[in-house]
Amino acid sequence: MKFKVPKLKDQFFQIYPKLRLILCDLDCYSQKRFGKEIIITSLIRKNDKGVHGYGRGADVRVEYVGWKRLIRYYTGKEIASILHCVNSKYIYDFRRPEYHTIIYHRVKGSTHHFHVQCWVR
Ligand SMILES: [Zn+2]
Repeated sequence: MKFKVPKLKDQFFQIYPKLRLILCDLDCYSQKRFGKEIIITSLIRKNDKGVHGYGRGADVRVEYVGWKRLIRYYTGKEIASILHCVNSKYIYDFRRPEYHTIIYHRVKGSTHHFHVQCWVR
């Protein structure tokens, strides 16, 4: 498991244990299946009103801006495999099946990435 910046490594021990477990499992799967360590790009975001503000959300690299071009870290097949693996193993919230533990998306001003989240009861 790699971290985009050193402070994320400290934050890794401040997030919810359940999220940490999911990320460790995801890293293990990614290494075994694709020979790639996951790269964590965001964890706790102080003023975030969503899960990142509560230590229940993590972003994992899928693509990044290289020398004047976008470089993909995972292929389309690998992305699909990861989504299936994590979501079939970790149910986000039994009472709200519309929410998922891992999603692949892109928000304004960012590149495509995995967003991983956990719900805590
Ligand atoms: Zn996110």
